Amino acid sequence: MKYVSVRGQSPPVSFREAVLRGLAPDGSLYVPERIPPLPQSVLTDLKDSSLHSLACEVTAPFIEEISPEDLDQLIHKAWDFPIPLVQLEERIFLLELFHGPTLAFKDVGARFMAQVLSCFLEQEHHELSIIVATSGDTGSAVAHGFFNVPHISVYVLYPSGKISRLQEQQMTILGGNIRAIEVEGTFDDCQRLVKQALADEEIVKPRNLTTANSINLGRLIPQISYYVWGVAKLREQSEVGSKAPSQPGLRRSSAPEQSMVGSGTPSQPSEPGVNPIVVVPSGNFGNLTAGVYAKWMGAPIGRFVAATNLNDVVPEYLRSGVFTPRPSIQTFSNAMDVGNPSNLARLQALYRQSVERMRQDIQGYRVSDEKTLTEIRSTYERTGCILDPHTAVGVHAARAVLAGKPDGPPAIVMATAHPGKFPEVVERALGLKIPLPPPLEHALRQPKKSTPLPNEFDRLKSFLLDAS
Ligand SMILES: *Cc1c(COP(=O)(O)O)cnc(C)c1O
Repeated sequence: MKYVSVRGQSPPVSFREAVLRGLAPDGSLYVPERIPPLPQSVLTDLKDSSLHSLACEVTAPFIEEISPEDLDQLIHKAWDFPIPLVQLEERIFLLELFHGPTLAFKDVGARFMAQVLSCFLEQEHHELSIIVATSGDTGSAVAHGFFNVPHISVYVLYPSGKISRLQEQQMTILGGNIRAIEVEGTFDDCQRLVKQALADEEIVKPRNLTTANSINLGRLIPQISYYVWGVAKLREQSEVGSKAPSQPGLRRSSAPEQSMVGSGTPSQPSEPGVNPIVVVPSGNFGNLTAGVYAKWMGAPIGRFVAATNLNDVVPEYLRSGVFTPRPSIQTFSNAMDVGNPSNLARLQALYRQSVERMRQDIQGYRVSDEKTLTEIRSTYERTGCILDPHTAVGVHAARAVLAGKPDGPPAIVMATAHPGKFPEVVERALGLKIPLPPPLEHALRQPKKSTPLPNEFDRLKSFLLDAS
């Protein structure tokens, strides 16, 4: 499998090179040259496989440089947490992607990428430095994902005083191979310093410097797996539900009636009326892109709903056919405050720039902050389940698209964060303080270890060159 740049002005590269580079030399994103079909064995044994074995089969065709045995091992190391499918109500299921160490779905991709890099470095006896700028969530997922991974040092730049205490603690308590750099400036300053460092050969060469932001294929490819896993679990629960009495408080799902075996042929649509609708709370659209790849591989998914907050440039593009990036607006679901989502270029490449074709698979839906709060409240009152603001955007969109179609397929909503990460918003919606999950409670009590740095490139440069 080769990877090509969406702009097409860089030579095709291997997975290893695409992961080490991040961005193609022509400045655009790497995409797989083709979408491989899911192995038939995956489709027939869908509901019997484990998350790890399924992920191994799904990702292996994309990653030829790592043997299936090594891949299996690294997936076990990366994902030492479950990804449960939980029934929220009759036709809405949550795929809980937030049981990793930083309690957001970014752990899934970041931890996989860390293990993949470590595997390459092991083979090559290399050392590598990773630098990222963060406004909060990415930094903590990358820091935890790469913590104690051999041969890798990580530098996380964050704007001093401009991220939540919880987010800061998650990045700064680790120490070891993780250096947190507290920049006197904004997130944009951090990003500019990172770009400057990555363009400076005097640092890149000796430090073997690269980045691990969310456009990296090493984070995107593994995310395909949990879409296949989600539909497998839905199938299993539907069957259990039809044999046994339903769980107390939860009603049985309406089971997809046809065989869940997909076509196996990329781009051939699966049964839209039968297969589940998948709702993805989206910001930079990496998560949704991974889901669409899963469908193109033949996973039995009906269609997608791209749920956004007020930063709705993609729903607007799907509606009007015109893409107009805008500066982002701050909302309660702040990890989705993106005004110019990078991964749209990957989707456009897949659908050959045809918005009509993209519309057949993806529908946009925008949810305001007010509706997000109402959704957290009404879901809690109805089910006792507390949603984080990002997942609430998804659940609201799911409810809207399912409304008035009582015989339609069920929806799976990607639950992207634990509500404990957003105590202020949840308290505002519910009027109650929720106890912090133990990992966050623990993080808050640890001493912070960070290096303050002025917003000056020369200071960053000497810091990077002196660091050992
Ligand atoms: C990053 C993030 C998102 C958005 O994911 P994209 O892949 O950027 O669309 C949604 N929810 C949470 C909690 C996040 O951290």
